[in-house]
Amino acid sequence: METPFIADVMLGKLATWLRLLGCDVEYLTAISDENLVEMASRSGRVILTRDLQLIRRRKARDNHFLVQGDNYKDQLRQVVERFSIDPLGRILTRCLRCNELLKDIGRSAVRERVPPYVYETQTDFRTCGCCGRIYWRGTHRDEAMKHVMKIFGIQE
Ligand SMILES: [Zn+2]
Repeated sequence: METPFIADVMLGKLATWLRLLGCDVEYLTAISDENLVEMASRSGRVILTRDLQLIRRRKARDNHFLVQGDNYKDQLRQVVERFSIDPLGRILTRCLRCNELLKDIGRSAVRERVPPYVYETQTDFRTCGCCGRIYWRGTHRDEAMKHVMKIFGIQE
C-alpha cells in the first residue's frame, strides 16, 4: 500500500528524491505551516518535516514523520525504511517536477522534443501530462538507478 506524502518547505530535495523513487509527494514552496497541516489533514497525506513546532499542531499530531538530519541521503533512507518503500521498484515513474505519473509516449511523437542523439538511440519514452517533460529509459534511468543503489548500498 502506497503512502502519499506532503513535504514541508525545507525538504525540497527529499521530495524530489522520493518522487524519483516513484512516491507520491506533494511539495509546495510557498505554503504556511497552518495551510500545510490543513492540506495534509484534508488529503490524507503524511507530513514529512523536520520542524518540531509544526508537529505540535493538533492536526499534524497523528499524521507526520519527523525526519532527522540535513543530509537528503540520510533523510531518504529514513523514509524508505519507515514506510517500507522498495527503492528500485518504481523508479522514474513520476515527474520529478510535478509529481504526476508518467505516461508512455510513442517514439515518433517525441522526435522534435528530444535531442537528435537521444531520438536515434532510445526507444522507450515517457512524458508528464502536466509539464510535458520527456523522460527516457537509457541515460535518465541508468543515472537514477546508479545513484539510488549507491545511497542504499545495493550491489549490482
Ligand atoms: Zn511534469
